Amino acid sequence: MNAMSDIEIARKNEQQAIKPITEIAQQIGLQPDDIEQYGSYKAKVKLATLAQQCVSNAHRLILVTSINPTPAGEGKSTVTIGLGDALKRLNKRAVIALREPSLGPVMGIKGGATGGGYAQVVPMADINLHFTGDMHALTSANNTLAALIDNHIQHGNQLQIDQRRITWKRVLDINDRALRQVVIGLGGPTQGVPRQDGFNITVASELMAVLCLATSLSDLKQRISKIVIGYNINQQPVTVADLKVAGAITLLLKDALKPNLVQTLEHTPTFVHGGPFANIAHGCNSVLATQAALKLGDYAITEAGFGADLGAEKFLDIKVPQLGKHPDAIVLVATVRALKYNGGVALADLKQENIAALKAGFANLKRHIQNMQQYGVPVTVAINHFTADTAAEITTLQQLCQALGVQAVDTNVWAKGGAGGIDLAKAVITSLAEQHTYQPLYEPQASIPEKINAIVQKIYGGKKVEYTAKAKRQMADFAANGWDKLPICMAKTQYSFTDDPKQLGAPEDFTIHVREFVPDLGAGFLVALTGHVLTMPGLPKHPAALDMDIDADGNITGLF
Ligand code: ADP
Repeated sequence: MNAMSDIEIARKNEQQAIKPITEIAQQIGLQPDDIEQYGSYKAKVKLATLAQQCVSNAHRLILVTSINPTPAGEGKSTVTIGLGDALKRLNKRAVIALREPSLGPVMGIKGGATGGGYAQVVPMADINLHFTGDMHALTSANNTLAALIDNHIQHGNQLQIDQRRITWKRVLDINDRALRQVVIGLGGPTQGVPRQDGFNITVASELMAVLCLATSLSDLKQRISKIVIGYNINQQPVTVADLKVAGAITLLLKDALKPNLVQTLEHTPTFVHGGPFANIAHGCNSVLATQAALKLGDYAITEAGFGADLGAEKFLDIKVPQLGKHPDAIVLVATVRALKYNGGVALADLKQENIAALKAGFANLKRHIQNMQQYGVPVTVAINHFTADTAAEITTLQQLCQALGVQAVDTNVWAKGGAGGIDLAKAVITSLAEQHTYQPLYEPQASIPEKINAIVQKIYGGKKVEYTAKAKRQMADFAANGWDKLPICMAKTQYSFTDDPKQLGAPEDFTIHVREFVPDLGAGFLVALTGHVLTMPGLPKHPAALDMDIDADGNITGLF
């Protein structure tokens, strides 16, 4: 086991070895004029510079995803970073693209998003806290729009917005359950018009998705103009364009749109940009950052949030059409502990060897492997090695994968950095040579229920979908508005293929319950809210914040 925590490893290495960001930029052909520095170790890359470069077929895209995780996460970011470092050790021009952390998980239960052990991006604390301010810019832009809506109503409501049908919510980048439902505008005529409102977490907001899918500043503005903020008294949609504030909202995001460049502990150039959650949003870093990694490296390694049923499905069905390139290889991260968890072992007992539970939980990995193979992309399994894993467990897992014709590589990047990922990197390079034909899951022209059926039956392994009366009404309205040709962004628990977080493994014959849709026209998808998934999470009984501190010299403890 690493004797040191993630923050201790990051801090020690940052002090000893972090390189000026200008040197990292230079590695990928960027001159000081091409970047805007945020201190010595972080920079944004100018959009004009990126626009001058193209992506060719020679550039390889590797998508890292995972099985259904335990609440702690299964090491997707860690493996993504370690794989990038390993490819660099093999003298490949590797560039990584990751999501930006949200303060919700950082202060809550899951921790940050900078990897772990010796496979981390740095400066770790900066990236996990305020970074280059993108999250704050998104929060401000979102809430500026909310203020402009209420101001419009206060001053005569020319657009006849029905204040009971405003769908645009305020946001905050922290889990705060007390803000899920609020009443605003109390206090009399000069204090606004009272109405019921609510907050989402910033990373679930449509603006975050818009930022992540935009391909340029003008595309960002186009998308923002299309956002539906609610409905008028005749139940017709009201957009940002109707409010005439697309320009103001776009300018608040002009810097946030530029991809952020940092480095791994082994100096591999890494873009960390955009961070929608995968359970309640589309779960992938920005199109611009992934394109930047593709343009500036020969191998772009990126990840999609939570399990492959959420993040990877959305990467493939929502992001790929905007990116204009599909992955050439998929890496599925599995851990012995999460497979045992999916096989019915309690969280407290995951460190004990249990081959029977591992075999039972393998059904979960098997379904994810077959799901990814449906898209026609070669799959490699990365076994993210934990110190408690036994040799018998690793061998069993490798044999189970081999029986499916898939290579499973024991990967130890958390303990050894890139050196622990060389075998994985070699296996991925081999898989990149496999002939394949990419096959999307559904056609955009399909109806809303056809698209949802495809996801539920071909990815989740479920049988049918039940819609509430509201969801049925919405589907009819959306079809009448011509919105039904958009892809679907499922909002679902990350712990299960079903919409019930307690049903682990690979359940069959289940029903998915769609309670409501949210039309995210700026992002260009329809969110289907299933089960009890919430767009403003709550903090746990013992949030990570309770274990954090900073001393008089600025040394931080408790970040992970
Ligand atoms: P994900 O991206 O799947 O959410 P992360 O890569 O963020 O997961 O890892 C979650 C946490 O687990 C981090 O704190 C990381 O340090 C820890 N972790 C990841 N891999 C290992 C490992 N092999 N051994 C021990 N801890 C690990």
